[in-house]
Amino acid sequence: MKGPKKGIEWEKLGFGFSDVNCHLRMTWKNGRWSKPKFVKDPSITLHIGAACLHYGQECFEGIKAFRQKSGKIVIFRPDENGKRMYRTAERTCMPPIPVDTFVECCRAVVKRNSEFVPPYETGGSMYLRPLLIGTGPQIGVAPAKEYTFLIMVMPVGSYYKGGIKPVRAVIFDEWDRAAPHGMGDVKVGGNYAAGIFAHEKAKREGWPVELYLDAASHRYIEEFATSNFAGISKSGVYVTPDSPSILPSITNMSLKQCAKDLGIKVECRPVPYSELKKFDAVAALGTAVVITPVWEITRGKDVIKISSPNEVHPILQKLYDRVRGIQYGTIADKHGWCFEVK
Ligand SMILES: *Cc1c(COP(=O)(O)O)cnc(C)c1O
Repeated sequence: MKGPKKGIEWEKLGFGFSDVNCHLRMTWKNGRWSKPKFVKDPSITLHIGAACLHYGQECFEGIKAFRQKSGKIVIFRPDENGKRMYRTAERTCMPPIPVDTFVECCRAVVKRNSEFVPPYETGGSMYLRPLLIGTGPQIGVAPAKEYTFLIMVMPVGSYYKGGIKPVRAVIFDEWDRAAPHGMGDVKVGGNYAAGIFAHEKAKREGWPVELYLDAASHRYIEEFATSNFAGISKSGVYVTPDSPSILPSITNMSLKQCAKDLGIKVECRPVPYSELKKFDAVAALGTAVVITPVWEITRGKDVIKISSPNEVHPILQKLYDRVRGIQYGTIADKHGWCFEVK
């Protein structure tokens, strides 16, 4: 394993693409997956009839690898991402990658790019983006006959350079993200395509995140556009919505376990919109940032002030510190979430 590459301004890294040594690529043809290859060129040649382009036959994942205090490089819960991509592949009629293969692929591509895993002290990490796409030409609607699986990696900076920062959120009743019995529970690009219009509008009008209600009744809270929802009740309970059209977030899964470990009660149940104003704190949860506190939520003329823009609820701070501590190896990993890259 290599130390951090010299000459990179780690402190200045944001969340974006940058060139590394290689990405991993595997292809599926004649009913089987090839062996993984490591490719330097970040571009691919696609048939103009590729199913991913025409009918959105594609899915992806988001994972992080960390350089720990001891110097070890670990990947955080890639097995869970592997399981989720397996389910997504089945839902979209793509050949799933066996979970063990998926995890080995993650390890192999991080190993070949180990000098791009940021130094421990910077609070940065390596972001892994596995992608599975239908590449075979398919003009009549049907699953493609050929597929490509790839994992691209990039070093990313610490999101919270000066501590966690609460944001404002918005609910638009004009647009939904995922319908009941739709694809909300799997990680497909189409869910993002459904939300990009609302996201641009929200950004233009000063809200960094959008919160979605259930598409059928607009009475229950589902999740943010790209992250799960959790509220902390007045009595200190971690409340997170239960709905079949929410994407099962691995960050949320980890935080729920950490809450239990810390003696914080967890409730996973339908959460009515009317409960929003009763929470002491609200947060958006996902791999990119772990926890983003939300201090105010606007829905039309309703502006709900949850908390102060300058304060982080102690339970959110505790949970954030716990997950980050496990990721960076300063808190014991008693659940076996960190997969070492050797
Ligand atoms: C990826 C994603 C999340 C977060 O999942 P993590 O596994 O925690 O990164 C939440 N909601 C949606 C819609 C997502 O696509």
